[in-house]
Amino acid sequence: MYKLNENYSNLKESYLFAQINSKVKNFSSEHPEAKIIRLGIGDVTLPLSSQVISAMHSAVDEMADGKTFKGYGPEQGYEFLKESIRGYYKSHNVDLETAEIFVSDGAKSDLGNILDLFDKSNVVLIPDPVYPVYVDTNIMDGRKILFMNASEENGFLPMPDSSVDCDIIYLCSPNNPTGAAYNRTQLKEWVDYAKAKGALILFDAAYEAFIEDPLLPRSIYEIEGAKDVAIEFCSFSKTAGFTGVRLGYTIVPNALGPLNKMWLRRQTTKFNGVSYIVQKGGNAIFSEEGLKQIKENIAVYKKNAVVIMETLDKLGIKYTGGKNSPYIWLKCPNQMNSWDFFDLLLEKANVVGTPGAGFGTNGEGWFRLTAFNTLANTQEAMQRLEKVL
Ligand SMILES: *Cc1c(COP(=O)(O)O)cnc(C)c1O
Repeated sequence: MYKLNENYSNLKESYLFAQINSKVKNFSSEHPEAKIIRLGIGDVTLPLSSQVISAMHSAVDEMADGKTFKGYGPEQGYEFLKESIRGYYKSHNVDLETAEIFVSDGAKSDLGNILDLFDKSNVVLIPDPVYPVYVDTNIMDGRKILFMNASEENGFLPMPDSSVDCDIIYLCSPNNPTGAAYNRTQLKEWVDYAKAKGALILFDAAYEAFIEDPLLPRSIYEIEGAKDVAIEFCSFSKTAGFTGVRLGYTIVPNALGPLNKMWLRRQTTKFNGVSYIVQKGGNAIFSEEGLKQIKENIAVYKKNAVVIMETLDKLGIKYTGGKNSPYIWLKCPNQMNSWDFFDLLLEKANVVGTPGAGFGTNGEGWFRLTAFNTLANTQEAMQRLEKVL
């Protein structure tokens, strides 16, 4: 008789986006004339850049010709792409070997799969509020989770507490959902704490491309000693609009001892690589013109973020993020709770955001808006917001 993984029964049902969608649907059917603007979804809206598209087109042509056709590629990614990623890190003063870079179909899969390498008895430390993947993947394995409070007091950037013992630490900077980003001094404290505890940091850099402040690190490896204590996850999803294309990578430094070989073994056993066409498309963002194009796309989102921030400033509403992130995390006015504020925005302004309470206990009373929309829609949404608040 087969037995189930009972840990799945400990997962909380993820109502957040389902509940948002059903509220929006109900409202729309009662008010079919309302033009609803969505500033809630954590997904890009701009199409792929022309450099990416033409690289993918030529890769398709290669696949059509017996002389250039590719079958299975290396599970850990083609050398040409790993070389480009290495060059990208070099451009922010991080030296990597290509054997430390593992190409994958995205950061979410790698964040889940990496747990194959760790015993169930490890205690994990996770910020609250948080990207739900870190929590749920550990619940599925039955690991003990400690939460650290991200709050208004610490600017949603929790710092290590030496009285807390843990084995695996999740950090996401710039953060989803709060948009807050650690500076070098803060990350150095985390690296030192991890060293002192013999712990490992799992660093999610999915939003590094949104960093504009040169004082903020784009990679944890910009911090001295980080290669001894951290694995970094990154993705083409938000950087280059690859959410529907699927491409990411994970850095497992050789300095982490057996982990690099273990991850190689895990990937070569359970994963068969990303399609050649997709890797060619991803590789195109690292050319001079490719980098320019993705910067232009990110600039469109950043302009939206500025429109949102200016409106909140005018209204005297507190927020984090926006500057080095596509997310603006705002404090609901008049001590409203997250869902009441959601209802108010939907009903009075026909604007949809994401209630902070959906990301954890500390998200209550906060609200996430995203810069992933058109400038015209963002401007209109903010004009409506100003009218109702
Ligand atoms: C969007 C996002 C990712 C990227 O996931 P992919 O699987 O690469 O699309 C990773 N981490 C966070 C926090 C995200 O918001």
